[in-house]
Amino acid sequence: MFHPILRKEKILDYLEKYFGKETRNYLDYFKKDWSEDPFTSCENLKSTYISPPYGNELFAKEYMNNMLLFSDSETSPVYGGYLEGAVYSGLRAASLILDN
Ligand SMILES: Cc1cc2nc3c(=O)[nH]c(=O)nc-3n(C[C@H](O)[C@H](O)[C@H](O)COP(=O)(O)OP(=O)(O)OC[C@H]3O[C@@H](n4cnc5c(N)ncnc54)[C@H](O)[C@@H]3O)c2cc1C
Repeated sequence: MFHPILRKEKILDYLEKYFGKETRNYLDYFKKDWSEDPFTSCENLKSTYISPPYGNELFAKEYMNNMLLFSDSETSPVYGGYLEGAVYSGLRAASLILDN
């Protein structure tokens, strides 16, 4: 766990690496801990890792000559439930559409 100031610097460094120096001209910085959000978590929730298994192989099968595709984070065979899974799944779907 990083000290809040160190964490902020690490986040800004990371953003600057990808989006350039103008990242430093931000108007505001706001940190949100979802585990403390009453609409997302609760006191008796012991672990934040509650992901079910994602990427059922039925979603990767070919339907209607790939005219029907399933693509989102939950259908992804990797990083299911995360943004990375959504990106993976979206790239796969885009590639199938372009090949069709
Ligand atoms: C509180 C919270 C915190 C999270 N934190 C993280 C995190 O820190 N890191 C991480 O990697 N992931 C995080 N996630 C998960 C991540 O946000 C999701 O995995 C990701 O956004 C899923 O992307 P998606 O494209 O699959 O689906 P979505 O982002 O849900 O996109 C689906 C889109 O389809 C639209 N839609 C729905 N029905 C229809 C319809 N009938 N017609 C047209 N459009 C429709 C919706 O409006 C939506 O825009 C978090 C999720 C939540 C809820």
